[in-house]
Amino acid sequence: MAAISRLTKPSSLSSFPRLWRSITTTTTTAQSPPSTLSRRSDLSSRSTQWVFLGCPGVGKGTYASRLSKLLGVPHIATGDLVRHELSSSGPLSTQLADIVNKGQLVSDEIIISLLSKRLEVGETKGESGFILDGFPRTIRQAEILEGVTDIGLVVNLRLPEQALIEKCLGRRVCNQCGKNFNVATIDIKGENGKPGISMAPLSPPAQCASKMITRADDTEEVVKERLRVYSEMSQPLEEFYRSRGKLLEFDLPGGIPESWPKLLEVLNLDEQEEKLTATA
Ligand code: AMP
Repeated sequence: MAAISRLTKPSSLSSFPRLWRSITTTTTTAQSPPSTLSRRSDLSSRSTQWVFLGCPGVGKGTYASRLSKLLGVPHIATGDLVRHELSSSGPLSTQLADIVNKGQLVSDEIIISLLSKRLEVGETKGESGFILDGFPRTIRQAEILEGVTDIGLVVNLRLPEQALIEKCLGRRVCNQCGKNFNVATIDIKGENGKPGISMAPLSPPAQCASKMITRADDTEEVVKERLRVYSEMSQPLEEFYRSRGKLLEFDLPGGIPESWPKLLEVLNLDEQEEKLTATA
């Protein structure tokens, strides 16, 4: 609660009280910093409140979604909330389309409002904890989040820029179930002591194959702008969490088959054990 009382409520964020109410109901005590992760024992006694950082296309959605299933907490991607709003005929839709299709960031006020509504819906369903993906994107958003709850861990996923561009351009989304797939075959040679990276395409199952669409903001021009905006914002944000001992840097070694077991290893998670716990 000390963190909450320190926060000066920002007058410009009209929907902030709702975020405040929703998020404070899931406030937990501080978790260990990444260097001393001992997740398994910690997680049994409290909800996970994690953040996934990383450039567009790095795979935040894929890994955050897998972990959310494993840990039994919702995966909340602010990009999905924005796209959901875009697909509606609500008053925000036209305003958002203009911003998103240029690869720029939506205002803190709009994002907080969308996130706040999502948390409120979750709260009514009895959700607790979360893995946030795509939020915070700015220091302001990080400060607001820090003011209302304690984030246990921030995972920063990293890939070389060439792979990010190829992955964004190869991304396809099932317009029915919303899952992401990828048609790109990535094969980047190692150089200057850095390892190469290979990633096989991620093909859709038969029921999704005829429903693949490309995101409107996954064109080369917009992807480059999104990467530029991200790299401008990311350093201070990474530093914000690094200085608090919460940042876990993770260089993806390849596609899901190579990366997923390594990620579980650094998080001290055991897929089998979690599944057994979940079904117990
Ligand atoms: P993403 O799917 O995370 O790449 O997000 C798609 C788009 O939604 C971004 O390019 C932004 O325009 C917008 N967006 C998502 N999350 C945020 C955020 N936390 N702050 C501002 N804009 C966001």
